[in-house]
Amino acid sequence: MPKSPKEIIREEIRALKAYPVPDSTGMVKLDAMENPYRLPPQVRGRLARLVEDAAVNRYPDPTAVELKAALRQALEVPAGMDLLLGNGSDELIQMVALATARPGAVVLGMEPSFVMFKMISAFVGARYVGVDLHDDFSLDIDRALAVIERDRPAAVFIAFPNNPTGNLFDAGLIERIIEAAPGLVVIDEAYHAFAGESFMERLPLHPNLLVMRTLSKLGLAGIRLGVLAGGAAWLKELDKVRLPYNINTITQIVAREMLRHGGVLTEQAEAIKLERVRVLQELQRTPRLTAYPSEANFILFRTRKAERVFDGLKQRGVLIKSLHGSHRLLADCLRVTVGTPDENTAFLTALNQTLAA
Ligand code: PMP
Repeated sequence: MPKSPKEIIREEIRALKAYPVPDSTGMVKLDAMENPYRLPPQVRGRLARLVEDAAVNRYPDPTAVELKAALRQALEVPAGMDLLLGNGSDELIQMVALATARPGAVVLGMEPSFVMFKMISAFVGARYVGVDLHDDFSLDIDRALAVIERDRPAAVFIAFPNNPTGNLFDAGLIERIIEAAPGLVVIDEAYHAFAGESFMERLPLHPNLLVMRTLSKLGLAGIRLGVLAGGAAWLKELDKVRLPYNINTITQIVAREMLRHGGVLTEQAEAIKLERVRVLQELQRTPRLTAYPSEANFILFRTRKAERVFDGLKQRGVLIKSLHGSHRLLADCLRVTVGTPDENTAFLTALNQTLAA
């Protein structure tokens, strides 16, 4: 008799819930921090021709040399720093966690934050320790430093801006964490395109600092490309747990071409930032609702009976994300991605209808 999953699958994996991706067919999709804009037709034409010529019978360039050179320039990576590429930044989080997961290793994260920091720690058998943010979503530096002292984490993950709260933590406090941490500190700048600050230029100052970016939120979620920048000595080791050919040929071609014409995506990001102002103002004008300022392409807000509001929006064809129940600080919180002006208006209209119902 073969054994059942219960006897074979690790307990900590059975205890997990798979990363939820709801069906969004036919909905106004404002749940996943995607850029809502398609590429202009002439850019699509150029990509089509490049893909047509691609030698997909061959494995991709394993080190993605040309793409890395283009990224180094586009991301303004300081001289002397190296890059490691991932199939999305999710995969980079996994590489860091895998490579550092010695027996008993601890991963430290702030709570609430991006759920994959915690989930991936479970995948690799590391012990995840979460430090709650203050009620205003700022860093609890005293607690974070105390936990670093106590648990000596092999890796610390900090999202900057933070998901799902949308704020940038105080950079000076993050510096203190970097200085106190015995292991790696990964600053996850997934929402950098919408924020004014970065740790990229500080890389040469801190030997244990890594800065992570992704092209997903900028408008290329479909090609899955994440970038980790940092010192060569660290990245050389992390590279050993990277699966061969993790960045496929089409991704390499499309990303290279898009970096050559990066203006299109940054213009779209600027349009999203303008709409972020409008959506935030509208939400802040809504009675009995608290909307939090955001440095990202989404807005977190708190309302009464959030689950009911989420369902009401869904019935009206608008899909956002409910965070109610995921953390004490997120009670009755919902998160909406900033979309096109029309999508945002559809969301605001549906929200007002739901609240009036
Ligand atoms: N980091 C943060 C903070 C995120 O919010 C996300 C996506 N939700 C990611 C990383 C993962 O992005 P990707 O794998 O698409 O690069």
